[in-house]
Amino acid sequence: MSIKAIRTCIVCRKSENPSALIRLTLVDGKVIPDLKGGAPGRGAWLHRECAESAIQRGSFKFAFKATSAPDVSELINRLDNK
Ligand SMILES: [Zn+2]
Repeated sequence: MSIKAIRTCIVCRKSENPSALIRLTLVDGKVIPDLKGGAPGRGAWLHRECAESAIQRGSFKFAFKATSAPDVSELINRLDNK
């Protein structure tokens, strides 16, 4: 079985099978983890262990080509719950 869909982590730039990464979407200026997959909109992918670095570096603004830094509180909540 070949898996052609390869995604790149926005933090460490490593290419991965999407199952190894978390998909994030930008909804109303908030970074929302797309845990079920298939949410509409621009997606960004990263490793679970890279999420903290992304938050600290403000990587989401660049990843989503946003004009201002997106709100990551939802993402932080999800990470804390796991
Ligand atoms: Zn990574």
